[in-house]
Amino acid sequence: MTDTVPRPRDGEELGEPDPQDSLLLCAPLRIEARALRRGLRDLPYPPAVIRTGYGTTRAAQQAGSLSHRPFGQIMVMGLGAGLSTDLSPGDLVVGTEVGSVTCASAPILAGELRRAGLSAHTGRITTVDHLVRRAERAKLAADGWLLADMESGPLAAAAGGHPVAVIRAVSDTPHHPVAGIVSGGLAALRSLRAAAPVAQRWAAACGTRQVLLAGPRSFCAGVERAIEIVERVLERQGPPVYVRKQIVHNTRVVGDLESRGAIFVDELDQVPDGATVVFSAHGVSPAVREEAARRGLAVIDATCPLVSKVHAEARRFAADGYTVALIGHAGHEEVEGTLGEAPDSTILVQTAADVAAMRPRDDKRVAYLMQTTLSVDEAAEVSGALRERFPAMRAPGSDDICYATTNRQVAVRAVAAESDLVLVAGSKNSSNSVRLVETCERAGTPAHLIDGAEDIQLDWLAGVSTIGLTAGASAPPAVVEEIIAALSGLGEVSVSERVTTTESIRFGLPKEVRQ
Ligand code: SF4
Repeated sequence: MTDTVPRPRDGEELGEPDPQDSLLLCAPLRIEARALRRGLRDLPYPPAVIRTGYGTTRAAQQAGSLSHRPFGQIMVMGLGAGLSTDLSPGDLVVGTEVGSVTCASAPILAGELRRAGLSAHTGRITTVDHLVRRAERAKLAADGWLLADMESGPLAAAAGGHPVAVIRAVSDTPHHPVAGIVSGGLAALRSLRAAAPVAQRWAAACGTRQVLLAGPRSFCAGVERAIEIVERVLERQGPPVYVRKQIVHNTRVVGDLESRGAIFVDELDQVPDGATVVFSAHGVSPAVREEAARRGLAVIDATCPLVSKVHAEARRFAADGYTVALIGHAGHEEVEGTLGEAPDSTILVQTAADVAAMRPRDDKRVAYLMQTTLSVDEAAEVSGALRERFPAMRAPGSDDICYATTNRQVAVRAVAAESDLVLVAGSKNSSNSVRLVETCERAGTPAHLIDGAEDIQLDWLAGVSTIGLTAGASAPPAVVEEIIAALSGLGEVSVSERVTTTESIRFGLPKEVRQ
């Protein structure tokens, strides 16, 4: 594990942190405090580790005295009793709720611990005044608690509005009860020691912030329609429902539909004969439709109508004897589908160099089309190169880059201009989300693609006071809310929105799933 807290360079001195901004690291037991100090000993200015004492009474006394002490943040770290059979000794539990205190930054902290190579879970932590035995473990687990300890509740409550976090290392579990506490305790202390530098990074990321929301953001009409189609088929036919490829490129959406009975397959040979299959929003080539017909599969097509429009243009240009230059990214499902409409007449061009290498049948009969989710700027460069080489080139009837892609790029550019950092909610295989990151970077603002709050790296946030926030067209709006909630656990967050346009487009559903 690496420590990325800034260190003085040769000849440079780092000032002592102001106590008002400093982290108080609370460890109830001497053995826990020692593990933390060992984990922190290589840092230039390690935070104060306070031994707060064993049990609820000592914790409450210490909590009272903490209110007289200046601090910026409180983190409680120690061992605890795992209540779930999913936990193993040495696992870390990051509290989302600790007693009555909400620790909103838990997803960010847990993600950071996982990237540090530790096994970290998030969940509710309860504080009790005795060691928990077998029957009580089961009852607490049934009540929704993931871990029990004897001190965190009162100590967390002492934060009094300052950022607060609790990390407990599991020493015993239902499968490894207190009898095995020695070996479990050693594993837990090792994890605690390894987690200590992350506490310092968490504290460095804390601060009050402004979040600027880009508007529009998140789901487009094509994605809403595709998800609704799968939901309706699930409702009508019950699980399983087969979907060729990811219905939209987002891990949250796919995971949610999977949990409700959708089965995502790469190819039709994974779909049983006679079953119903949904085609994804990105579209398919005619070869896939023909195979589905040959197999007797019942097809429900969730292809976005704006992708279908590009397919129709490809067929029309090819029928008129044109060579079609398709501007897009090799391997993307949408591009595969469009290429399949007129494979002998279509050439994929990704760069100006590809344009120079094109060998059309007739220079005077060239047309171009675009993938719907390209960067507007990047696509303009390639289409400019095409027009220079083929001045008589025909263009699509209307822009192929869809309204949702264009609108989200314009909106994120506006927030990037005012932000120190932009977070883009979206999955790595989401073309339009990746383009949003590139748009910010082209505007000179660092940006990161994240599936959720757990992907936010604490180092990104140190010294950042204004965060731009958007979501790709396939990312659910709830992810944006989750990210804001998690950031608010690092300090007060004020949220405002920069709306560059509003959207009201809706697409009708295919007849198979209409009411
Ligand atoms: S991003 Fe555009 S093309 Fe893709 S599903 Fe949404 S509206 Fe349709």
